[in-house]
Amino acid sequence: MSASPSSQKPHCAAVYGPVKSGRFGRSLGIDPIGIISTCSFKCIYCQLGNIQQQTTQQQIFVPTSQIISELQAIAQREIQLDVVTVSGSGEPTLALNLEEILAAIKEIFKQPKVVLTNSTLLGDKSVRNALLLADIVAVKLDAVSSNQLRQINQPLEKIDLPDIIQGITQFRQEYQGRMAIQTMILSSWTAETQAGYIHLLKVLQPDEIQINIPSRPRVLVSQLESRGNDIAESRAYACENFKLLTPEELSAMAQKIHTATKIPVRYPILGDR
Ligand code: SF4
Repeated sequence: MSASPSSQKPHCAAVYGPVKSGRFGRSLGIDPIGIISTCSFKCIYCQLGNIQQQTTQQQIFVPTSQIISELQAIAQREIQLDVVTVSGSGEPTLALNLEEILAAIKEIFKQPKVVLTNSTLLGDKSVRNALLLADIVAVKLDAVSSNQLRQINQPLEKIDLPDIIQGITQFRQEYQGRMAIQTMILSSWTAETQAGYIHLLKVLQPDEIQINIPSRPRVLVSQLESRGNDIAESRAYACENFKLLTPEELSAMAQKIHTATKIPVRYPILGDR
């Protein structure tokens, strides 16, 4: 495990935006990963295109000092913000300095701190401890079976669904903030898959459920613009092979989940993605 920043990466801004988020309003983005996209998943809908480095190895990708100086520069501009969101070009819990980054955000901004995570490292106590500093944590859960996980998220081989669910369960027990479960639905789910999902939600007891469908044109444009290679194109086509839910089907599914769980369910309506 390396605790020093990679010397091979060119410098890039770690703080970006604010971007308008349908979920959170005007969000200042913090990217603790940097220019080489790095994640433990390779989701077939990923807007980063083909993840360049797939790993569960934590390291410091962007020095905390760089992030702090960028945050201070933004704070001086007194931009209107609703939240500060840590996500960026990969899985933010891979950043060993996540806790330092969240502490720095808290020092500089009064807005709620949001972290978006793919949940694969929640079994690690130090990761869960770092996330305790966030006001909102959105944890990804796209699958209710190992097969579905492999098909949609394409994790490293050692990652499996029971461990992910165990990690989310532990985090839920320890975390007092607002935990949302984020789920990307690529095609109509069978009744069995829906029942399995609802069962998991009842066990995990998130404060909110966010279900989503990929925006197909955006996936294609983003991948081709940002990466422009053949692998990215084939990944986009992999997404195209799914028969996406219509807004009406998504709405019906959201209603069914809410009725069964009594947990608020959010889903995109006209640009709310
Ligand atoms: S978890 Fe997020 S960053 Fe990682 S591959 Fe999936 S969509 Fe991309």
